[in-house]
Amino acid sequence: MKADCIFCKLVAKQIPASIVYEDDATLAFMDLGQVNPGHVLVACKAHADNVYALDDAQAAAVFRTAARVARAIRAAFDPPGLSIYQANGTPAGQTVFHFHLHVLPRHDGDGMQLVWPVKNPPREQLEAYCAKIRAKL
Ligand SMILES: [Zn+2]
Repeated sequence: MKADCIFCKLVAKQIPASIVYEDDATLAFMDLGQVNPGHVLVACKAHADNVYALDDAQAAAVFRTAARVARAIRAAFDPPGLSIYQANGTPAGQTVFHFHLHVLPRHDGDGMQLVWPVKNPPREQLEAYCAKIRAKL
């Protein structure tokens, strides 16, 4: 537990949260902001600043919980769409530096925006990017 981390305090039940689900590795709770009704956050219980800090078991656990919660949101709210969103670092929009992902029911015209400024590089450039990442796996 990191002493100054609000999500560690939620996991430790030191501050209240509306908890949807928890298991040994994850905690799912209602986002106070509620972009749309049923908006849930899934966090790893152990403190990890971001996706880079997750081990394989934590990564598997958070996505297993996210998929489970997504199915429950669909059954409970029947949204026409659902987004899973996760940010790492300030430029990506991360504001709480304890790994979490958003499971967000979506509706037409709900005001949520994510712009994809595609660059469409040539195949050779894609292959170069691909090789650079593969070399680090
Ligand atoms: Zn934390």
